[in-house]
Amino acid sequence: LLALEEITVRFGDRAVVDAVDLDVAEHEVVCVLGPSGSGKSTLLRVIAGLQAPDGGRVRLGGADQAAVPAHRRGVGLMFQDHQLFPHRDVGGNVAFGLRIRGARRAAYEPRVAELLELVGLPGAQRRAVASLSGGEQQRVALARALAPEPRLLMLDEPLGQLDRGLRERLAVELRALFSRLGTTVLAVTHDQAEAFALADRVVVMRDGRIAQAGSPLEVWQRPASEFVARFLGFDN
Ligand code: ATP
Ligand code: MG
Repeated sequence: LLALEEITVRFGDRAVVDAVDLDVAEHEVVCVLGPSGSGKSTLLRVIAGLQAPDGGRVRLGGADQAAVPAHRRGVGLMFQDHQLFPHRDVGGNVAFGLRIRGARRAAYEPRVAELLELVGLPGAQRRAVASLSGGEQQRVALARALAPEPRLLMLDEPLGQLDRGLRERLAVELRALFSRLGTTVLAVTHDQAEAFALADRVVVMRDGRIAQAGSPLEVWQRPASEFVARFLGFDN
């Protein structure tokens, strides 16, 4: 579904994303794992069409996206700081994902209810965003990102603001949800446990390059370099 060919992004004379090749197959959940500053959010912005790469090609469904604006790419991006609209209630936030496709209010209410059920917040339509816990807000942001049924759902640190216990529980829940819906997902995180709980395939990034890619088990059992091993928490 997604194919990146030698994607490069430079800020000044530094390549923040450095000739990255990456494929994501339909229905696959891929998690890019890397330390802060390794270029993860930049990579997602390029795929979403929010930032033009300095080199390389993004293909979606085989088609080069260079001339395709962000809103026509059919991809969803849940931002790192999830950015809910504080002046809208939960239902209004989720509906925002639908309204950009032109649906009318009466038509989208059942769909909003369904999406809130999917993310484990049934009946929360009228609640104020400020009354939700951090984990609940992340679920609302997820429902909003799922609403337009993007062919590729990209999540930037989807569970970043949660404590460890909740983060791992939600990662397992999300994995089940994506597999049930058949959603194709590209998530990025700096949290090893989250990536391993969520992904079919893990891609480890370092300084804008891919250090290793493989199944969680492969990466865990055979880290390709000392960097990967250290990053996974092995001391030797
Ligand atoms: P984190 O885990 O902290 O979110 P990240 O892997 O998402 O990190 P990016 O946000 O992609 O990292 O940033 C990669 C590098 O590019 C960082 O060093 C950042 O400072 C730099 N960078 C990002 N955007 C810009 C910009 N507009 N101008 C200059 N430098 C930038
Ligand atoms: Mg980031």
